[in-house]
Amino acid sequence: SAKHNGRNRYARFTQEMQAHSTRVLLIENALRSALENDEFTLHYQPQFCLANKKLVAAEALLRWNSVSLGKISPAEFIPIAEDSGQIVAIGEWVIKESIRQIQQWKELGYPALKVAINLSYAQFQEPNLAPFITDTLQAHQVSPKLLELELTERIAMDDPESATDVINTFHKLGLETSIDDFGTGYSSLSYLQKLPVYKLKVDQSFIRNMINDKNNLAIVSAIIALAKKLGMSTIAEGVETLEQLEKITALGCDEVQGYLLGHPVPPDEFEQHHFSHFSDIHQRKMG
Ligand code: C2E
Ligand code: MG
Ligand code: MG
Ligand code: MG
Repeated sequence: SAKHNGRNRYARFTQEMQAHSTRVLLIENALRSALENDEFTLHYQPQFCLANKKLVAAEALLRWNSVSLGKISPAEFIPIAEDSGQIVAIGEWVIKESIRQIQQWKELGYPALKVAINLSYAQFQEPNLAPFITDTLQAHQVSPKLLELELTERIAMDDPESATDVINTFHKLGLETSIDDFGTGYSSLSYLQKLPVYKLKVDQSFIRNMINDKNNLAIVSAIIALAKKLGMSTIAEGVETLEQLEKITALGCDEVQGYLLGHPVPPDEFEQHHFSHFSDIHQRKMG
């Protein structure tokens, strides 16, 4: 009967909800010992300048191989760490580890490469963030010019006045900032104009759909044009095909990041692929 079906559906829904909250609790618990067990690593994904095809930076992306749960994607555990407050300690580890890596690359004699790290809202609200970053940079004798901070639209728009203050503090310290996943949040254009950010990262959902969907193409084109007018630069995320690469180049985008030109990889693989012969890669992939 319909009633019976309804009850089954309800039972299934309840089961799914329970399974979901069990998983969240498991992850939250496993995260508690992840730092002391040394379960995190950073992978690095290259970013290229479209005008000269050179490697300009790498984005550091967090990877977690949990002793109890195995590999878990940041798309799953970052929101949980944000809700539980664990993201602040995890984020400090990311800051320390990325700066340590910049120092190590310098010591190995590689060309100086900027590293971009992702910051969560909760980290941004910590008054200690800026001093923590500068202390860590100083301890490793790394220039602030080599660290870029990727902020979310939420950081920028929730409290634009104090966000502007914090971003200005970063800039005075020599740290560049960008807005990640731009276009997916609730940015108000009037605040965007006041925010002293350097770069907009065009969200990959627009890049993915722009070839087959005129509206998405219009959005990408508008974001790039807007950034230019506001004196900001742009990077297209999630570029997977040559067609997408050609399109963003034609639209005047400044930089590119995506599987077409390089996946996020551990530091040793990054060195092999992008430091030793990165000019060959451009020639092969970018013509
Ligand atoms: P994000 O910062 O927007 O990073 C880009 C994501 O897109 C990464 O996913 C990257 O692996 C993926 N990606 C790059 N190129 C392509 C492509 O061509 N195609 C497709 N389909 N995907 C591509 P990942 O590493 O799984 O990270 C997911 C999100 O988790 C990040 O999105 C970021 O919001 C968050 N995250 C990662 N590491 C950290 C971290 O250290 N701290 C914080 N707060 N968040 C982080
Ligand atoms: Mg990012
Ligand atoms: Mg992004
Ligand atoms: Mg994202």
